[in-house]
Amino acid sequence: MSEPALPDIPGLAEALIGGDRRALAQSITLVESSRPDHRPLADRLLEILLPRTGRSIRIGISGAPGVGKSTFIESFGLHVLGQGHRLAVLAVDPSSRLGGGSILGDKTRMTRLAGEAKAFIRPSPAGGTLGGVARRTREAMLVAEAAGYDVVLVETVGVGQSETAVADMTDMFLLLLLPGSGDDLQGIKRGIVELADLILVNKADGPLAELALRTAADYQHALRLLHPATPGWTPEVRVCSALEGTGISEAWGVIERFRATLGEAALAARRAGQAKAWLRAELSDSLLAALAGHPRVRDRLPAMEAEVAAGRLAPGAAARLLLAEFLGNPPPGA
Ligand code: GDP
Repeated sequence: MSEPALPDIPGLAEALIGGDRRALAQSITLVESSRPDHRPLADRLLEILLPRTGRSIRIGISGAPGVGKSTFIESFGLHVLGQGHRLAVLAVDPSSRLGGGSILGDKTRMTRLAGEAKAFIRPSPAGGTLGGVARRTREAMLVAEAAGYDVVLVETVGVGQSETAVADMTDMFLLLLLPGSGDDLQGIKRGIVELADLILVNKADGPLAELALRTAADYQHALRLLHPATPGWTPEVRVCSALEGTGISEAWGVIERFRATLGEAALAARRAGQAKAWLRAELSDSLLAALAGHPRVRDRLPAMEAEVAAGRLAPGAAARLLLAEFLGNPPPGA
């Protein structure tokens, strides 16, 4: 009998809860798996783990490539460990591909943090849609919480939509910016700044120290004109140097104050809202996948597309015909 054994889920859950790092890595691999026979196992695992999740502070972090995210996460992470916490670092990077240069994929990043027993670093799930990558990271976050990590950092690259996905799965959103970047608050950048509960102007050292302070003042000013990301919290702007380790303990202090200011009830309400939004996203993803996999829909879609492209059928009518096939109702008059 040489069938590859499917994991024993209760045993895996027990090992994970007991602090076994291999069980943690294996569990995350399971929830990230796209194999259809793995999905019910992953769901079963999450069901067992769910009562043990939620006891962490979930922090989203973003910033353009080169701003110093990995340097910051290493320095911040070591500080947080020094405070007696256990830290998981996860990532959402929809641009990452198998074998490609995904954030956190590079083993040379955060080498000191990676060597710490109380830190767990996991690269972004590779490839797929932003929704798919975000879902797998959310589930990895729950798994890490059940394994006892009480600070979870979710990193993303500062290029647009993935920030919103990360802000939607975390309690607090932290944005790293470069000195001198405060003069132009338009478009995508403004949208990302609007998500931030804490802005850190990094590289506030050496010749850039002065400029960093001015940039921080510019952002402080600009933020007064924007909606705060979190009701009940006025976003803060600080400077730091991830390289020299200045401003790091202050940043952690702001995070603790954020948590205390909002209180457990507001955080629980935010998470409940996020869980509901996640359910709706899961529903629409699953429905779309089921629709695309439905044999009659698949058979008829090319002809419908041709009709629509030729202008003989309205897209809305074509969609309704295909949906009727999917739902098993013959369209009226058919
Ligand atoms: P990431 O792409 O956002 O992850 O950025 P990295 O952490 O890889 O940093 C990019 C470059 O900026 C590296 O050469 C770092 O050494 C440098 N860097 C990061 N933080 C600081 C800082 O606080 N001060 C200075 N001067 N350089 C920094």
